[in-house]
Amino acid sequence: MNDAPLQLFNSLTRKLETFEPVHPGEARVYSCGPTVYNYPHIGNMRAYVFADVLGRTLSWKGYRLTHVINITDVGHLTDDADAGEDKMEKMAAAKAQSIWDIARHYTEAYWADVKALNIREPAEWSIATNYIEQMIDFAKQIAPRHCYELDSGLYFDVSTVDDYGRLARAVTEEGEGRIEAVAGKRNAADFAIWRKTPPGETRQMEWDSPWGKGAPGWHLECSVMSGQLLGFPFDIHTGGIDHREIHHPNEIAQNQAFCCTNGLSVPANSGARIWMHNNFLVDRTGKMSKSAGEFLRLQLLIDWGYHPLAYRLMCLQAHYRSELEFSWDGLAAALTRLKRMVMAAERLTDAGEGDPDHPKFAPLLAKFDAAISDDLNTAIALTALEEVLAMKKVDAGVKRAVVAKMDAVLGLGLLDLARADLRLRPKAAVITEADIDAALARRKGARAEKDFAASDAIRDELAAQGVEVMDGDPLGWEWKLG
Ligand code: AMP
Ligand code: ZN
Repeated sequence: MNDAPLQLFNSLTRKLETFEPVHPGEARVYSCGPTVYNYPHIGNMRAYVFADVLGRTLSWKGYRLTHVINITDVGHLTDDADAGEDKMEKMAAAKAQSIWDIARHYTEAYWADVKALNIREPAEWSIATNYIEQMIDFAKQIAPRHCYELDSGLYFDVSTVDDYGRLARAVTEEGEGRIEAVAGKRNAADFAIWRKTPPGETRQMEWDSPWGKGAPGWHLECSVMSGQLLGFPFDIHTGGIDHREIHHPNEIAQNQAFCCTNGLSVPANSGARIWMHNNFLVDRTGKMSKSAGEFLRLQLLIDWGYHPLAYRLMCLQAHYRSELEFSWDGLAAALTRLKRMVMAAERLTDAGEGDPDHPKFAPLLAKFDAAISDDLNTAIALTALEEVLAMKKVDAGVKRAVVAKMDAVLGLGLLDLARADLRLRPKAAVITEADIDAALARRKGARAEKDFAASDAIRDELAAQGVEVMDGDPLGWEWKLG
């Protein structure tokens, strides 16, 4: 049934390509993880919803998935040109805390969001600072042919690899000045492999190396961890579209250097065969970014009463390669859509076991498979799932099995959600749900006795506490908090 060829858009070739695994039956995927100097915003989380859907799709296709997501706790600078401060050091100084405490706190916050969004745990969360030795070793191997030393550190000479920057389609001629900032660089786009601690300074995070005390450049960690954990070449590398411009071209250059040095055959594929990038979540003011200071966290959506999976659904409604504009109205619409699906799925709660491969469902399963195989077209896949939920006169057990099968790819957890879970319940509300339920029960009693004055009084009491009673609401919301 899951036999449509899996087509994925490869940013390297800017084309749809049929997925052919490097190792038969397996899929090895590396996703650039968060820099844990601050909370992730909902735009960052879009990148992991996308990577999760990719992983789930590979599982749907029958591949044994090995997914690695890294945690960047060192090396990511405030400036792409190797001139700024380490984001971690900067935040630690601002908060007067150790970098390790900062890293732990924000990594845990990120993992909480991962869980709330039903993002499956990868096989490995690789933490950059656990790989410093390996990074130094990698750098030692590529240094003789591809790097040069300046007072400030060890730099990668991008002219030593073929076709540098092809992923970004960047112009890299001398004088282009795309990135510069460090005096003495041979080419504008050269980047730090190792950043030496300036004389007389001590950094919270620094290690001894053949180039002096210091810390690795940001790009190094991903080459080292992906190569080590997945082996070159591996199948797919993912990240947000900003990484297509600098971070990933630099990773590719390092991978080429490493593979050349070690006689590994990694031709144009450059470490991973397919490089995939999700587009941005934007709001009315533009791209959401952590460094801009103000941003939306998943927890804020939850505090305002929205179930986090409404945000997941919002992501799935758009294609991962399109920009997605966040709005509260859009989120509310996604929540309503999710609730409709959950209401339909709730009718299947008591159904027995069914076999999803029933001929009645074959066309919709084929539609679903074609959509998801078409570069993860989740928007269409969702409609196939909704069509299944709307089917009448079919065996409930079979229907439930089909819903479970499709939802294993979409990850909405439809069969585990109850409509009550999706109620808007802002954190700021003082009235408890038990109080609301008790008041509504009293009101029902009053209405049964045709005591409309009492019933209206209860409704007004609730309204005074911000609870709107929604009589006869087709979605059965019953009430909502203002
Ligand atoms: P960072 O923690 O900044 O390294 O980013 C983590 C991931 O989020 C990376 O894959 C980024 O490319 C991605 N990303 C950053 N901003 C956005 C955004 N507004 N929308 C979608 N993805 C983003
Ligand atoms: Zn990376």
